[in-house]
Amino acid sequence: MSVTVCAVATPMAVGGISVVRISGEQALEIAGKVFVPVGKSVAEMNGYTAAYGKIFDGEERLDDGVLLVFRAPHSYTGEDVCEISCHGGIYVTQRVLGACIKAGAKPAAAGEFTKRALLNGKLSLTQAEAVADMISAQGAQSLNCSNLMLEGGLYRKAERISEKLMEVSAQISAWIDYPDDDTPAVTAEWLTEKLTDINADFSALLDSYDTGRMIREGISCAIVGKPNVGKSTLMNLLSGEERSIVSSVEGTTRDVVEESVNIGGAVLRLSDCAGIRETDDEVEKIGVGIMLKRLKNADVVLAVFDGSRELSEEDERLFSLIADKTVIPVVNKSDLEQKLDIDELEKRLGKCVVMSAKNSESAELLGKEITERLDLKRFDAGAGFIANERQRACVMRAKAAAENALSAVMAGITPDAVGVELEQALDAVFELSGKRASEEVIAQVFERFCVGK
Ligand code: GDP
Repeated sequence: MSVTVCAVATPMAVGGISVVRISGEQALEIAGKVFVPVGKSVAEMNGYTAAYGKIFDGEERLDDGVLLVFRAPHSYTGEDVCEISCHGGIYVTQRVLGACIKAGAKPAAAGEFTKRALLNGKLSLTQAEAVADMISAQGAQSLNCSNLMLEGGLYRKAERISEKLMEVSAQISAWIDYPDDDTPAVTAEWLTEKLTDINADFSALLDSYDTGRMIREGISCAIVGKPNVGKSTLMNLLSGEERSIVSSVEGTTRDVVEESVNIGGAVLRLSDCAGIRETDDEVEKIGVGIMLKRLKNADVVLAVFDGSRELSEEDERLFSLIADKTVIPVVNKSDLEQKLDIDELEKRLGKCVVMSAKNSESAELLGKEITERLDLKRFDAGAGFIANERQRACVMRAKAAAENALSAVMAGITPDAVGVELEQALDAVFELSGKRASEEVIAQVFERFCVGK
């Protein structure tokens, strides 16, 4: 932390401008050796000000550009920060970075600026994770979630739960240490009520994981149905591309075609799966095998039926395969004469989306149905949700300890044993928020970051 670091904060690619960021105690001194502003010297510049000037590597003039100055603690990292914007060529950017290193800065590690922000108390660990999520956000909903996480929803939730845990712990300690004083008795009823409430908080957080994951990483969506119902046409309609092979010969889609599309603010990770039918064709058999695996992992299944044909035995097979999945039944080919018994289908799978994959307006309709049925719109990201495996593991550990505490109360075990479990739950909650995270945990979080962030 005492070392001043620098890195290119923009992608290493040709663009309009590039930004080289310097952070640390010597940031202004180093920037002053590389950048000569028109007007005041760098050392005299106030925080939150910009200056136009020339960029040098020793005596050699490299470029002209703009310097932004942030003074500690009012910067992203909480340290003095200088950002030099130069022309966005790869060579010139590397030269400006090299000049900063020659002037005394060390190259920053991946995520080092955000790590410094964390260590200087500008961000919590969950907020630092949200920064990485924001950079990788691919859709409006996922961007919104990272913004809300960055505002500290999960951090505040972890704080509230830790306060509840500490209240119970403190009561137990007081009761054990001063049993004869006026300390209220810690009864099994009181403990049961408090611990049940805490466990409900943990359960709600764990429930938020799947929805949060779907919003951030995209909804894994398998398109299934017997051959020729229009799966590939539907896939092409949603993705707006001729990705899947459309033909009227049965068994054309032999492998799984995948595509990510952005519909209604959500990212759908579509896989057009091989038609479900008994087959002797070795290649098609492999496709059917992969399809079954995709089906198992899908968040939602679009089960496609041909409205111009009656339900058949193959459709029956499909019913059994998707019995335990979230299914949106799609009755396709609504432009043809309809022979399918929709009432019967709705009895078995719920409300159908009747559409034609040949009509471009059907894409929006289907996208809306998917987000509505998965209840993504109602998901309250502002209330705090779990966004990654690390956070989930912490909550699971905390919940297991809180459940042990509750079982101990019910089994009539003395309050001090309950207190030990509560300490463990508290430890896991503090690891979640980063208040007590080890260096190893912090290092793992920042592994995901790019250099320059
Ligand atoms: P898959 O085997 O389920 O992937 O089916 P395809 O997408 O290859 O489509 C099979 C045939 O049905 C093709 O000839 C498509 O042009 C046709 N088809 C697909 N959707 C529709 C639709 O909404 N209306 C009509 N009339 N034909 C369609």
